[in-house]
Amino acid sequence: MSKDFYSILGVEKTASDDEIKKAYRKLAHKHHPDKEGGDEAKFKEINGAYQTLSDKQKRQQYDQFGQTFEGANAGGAGGFNFDFGQSNAGGSGSGFEDLFSDLFSQTGFGGSASSQEKVGSDVAVDVEITFEEMALGTEKKVELYKRVLCDKCEGTGAKDKNTKTCETCGGAGKVHKTMRSMFGAIQQVVPCEKCHGKGQIPKEKCSKCGGDGVVRDYQKVNIKIPAGIEDGQTIRATGHGEIPIGGGHAGNLFITIHIKPDQNFKRSGDDIVSKVKISFSQAALGDKIDVGTIEGVIKMKIVAGTQSGDIFKIRNKGINREDRFGRGSHLVEIQVRTPENLSRDQKRLVKKLQEAGL
Ligand SMILES: [Zn+2]
Ligand SMILES: [Zn+2]
Repeated sequence: MSKDFYSILGVEKTASDDEIKKAYRKLAHKHHPDKEGGDEAKFKEINGAYQTLSDKQKRQQYDQFGQTFEGANAGGAGGFNFDFGQSNAGGSGSGFEDLFSDLFSQTGFGGSASSQEKVGSDVAVDVEITFEEMALGTEKKVELYKRVLCDKCEGTGAKDKNTKTCETCGGAGKVHKTMRSMFGAIQQVVPCEKCHGKGQIPKEKCSKCGGDGVVRDYQKVNIKIPAGIEDGQTIRATGHGEIPIGGGHAGNLFITIHIKPDQNFKRSGDDIVSKVKISFSQAALGDKIDVGTIEGVIKMKIVAGTQSGDIFKIRNKGINREDRFGRGSHLVEIQVRTPENLSRDQKRLVKKLQEAGL
C-alpha cells in the first residue's frame, strides 16, 4: 500500500492550498532528478501527491475515498502528464506553471514566474587601455553594433503602434508545450513565440523593424574603467546588451580589459615600478635626478652611496584605486652604470680610486 499523499508532502490533512504548494515546491526542488542527489522515484511520488492535493475536486475525492482514488488517477506507468488546464488558469499563484518555470527555468527568459519577458543576448567586447589609464582610471566610449529598440514603433513592432490580441496564445503571452523528459511527458509553460510573450501582435508590421520591435544599429556606450583594473579582467555593464526580438529586458555588456604593456612602467600590486640608471659618480656622491612617473617627471634625491638595486619610494604616485584607502607608491629601482670607453684622463681618475681601495 502506497503512502498517504499528505505524509508524502509532509503536511497535515487540514493543510491549506498554500501550505501544500509550499511543501511541494520545497520537496520538488530537493528531489528533482536533474539535480545532483535528485531522486526520480521520489520526485514522481511527490508530483503524484501534489497533482491530487492541489486540485480541489481531486483532493475532495481523495479525502473521501482515500487510496482507491489513486488507481483512478494514475495516468499510466510511463509518467505524469501534468495538467495545466482550466482549473489552474484563474488562480493567482496556484497550479504548476509557476512551479515549473522555477524547476525548468530556461535561459533566455526571466527567472520569475510573473515575468515571461525575454532577456536579450549578452554582448562581449574587448577594450585596450594604456598603462596610464589603468593606473589613473579612465572612461572609454565603446561602439557596439547590436539589437536596439526600434525607435519608429518604440519596440511594439507595429505600424503606428497599433496592436491586436495574439491569436496563438489568446493574449496570455504564454503557451503550453509538451516536453519529453526522463520521467515522461511534461507540459511546460513557455512564452508564446508568435507574440514573444507579450500577448499582443502588430495589426500591421512596422516598416523599419519588420515587426521585430528591434533593429540592429550602432550604439555608443560610455564605460567607466576603474583605476587598478587587472589585465584580462571583465567589467559588466548591466542592461547594455541586446534587446531581444519582440522586446524585453536587455542583456548585459561584458567588457574585457587589456592593458598595453608599458616600456617604462611595471605594476606590483598597487605600486608602479620603474628603473632608473644613474652614473657611478651620482651613486657615490648623491644627486637630484629626474624620474618619470605616471603623472609626469619629478625630481628625486639620490643619497650618497646608493647601490645598484636600491629602491627609492615616491609616495602617492602609484595606482590610484578608489576602492582602497591611500594610494600606491612609485618605486624607483636604481641601476648604477659602470663607465665605458674611458678617455686616458678618466682612466687615470679611476685608477686613483682603485688605489684608494674603491
Ligand atoms: Zn519598429
Ligand atoms: Zn501570443
